[in-house]
Amino acid sequence: MRYPPELQDPDRQPPPRTPVTPPAMPAAGATTESALAFPSFRQLFTLMGRALRLRCPHCGLGSVLRGYATVNDRCTHCGFRFTRSSDSYFSGAMLTNLAVAEGLFAVIFATVLVVSWPNVPWDTLTWLMPLGVALAPIILLPFAKVAWLTFDVAFRPVTPDEIEAPTRT
Ligand SMILES: [Zn+2]
Repeated sequence: MRYPPELQDPDRQPPPRTPVTPPAMPAAGATTESALAFPSFRQLFTLMGRALRLRCPHCGLGSVLRGYATVNDRCTHCGFRFTRSSDSYFSGAMLTNLAVAEGLFAVIFATVLVVSWPNVPWDTLTWLMPLGVALAPIILLPFAKVAWLTFDVAFRPVTPDEIEAPTRT
């Protein structure tokens, strides 16, 4: 914005505009560009079964995780790359996990309250609730990561360039 001529002070003008450069895109080959697709119920059931067994959503054989909740780079069986976009691909899973775990916990708490009213076991709840709040997200995290990946694969099918010959070590 410029002031009208009678108000213009040569010493107090807005600085010249500098062009804004858009943020750099992730390197090609690291991002999945598959089209959206809607899975059939049968496909969804298959994928859910694989997710519950913490298996690769693409082949159902390789395991997604190693250790407690560390995601493998690729499927050991079919070579599907699990981190489908940036390095922070699974951060959404952690956030969703936290929300779902605590939400689930609130539902259980409310159910206990309603069912046992008016003889609510307050003493038991006093030590059980903080324990549950702390443990629920930890217990559910492996499932949340695999569910996140599986849900993504369900609606964005795996493309050939995401598959690489498995490296057996
Ligand atoms: Zn696989």
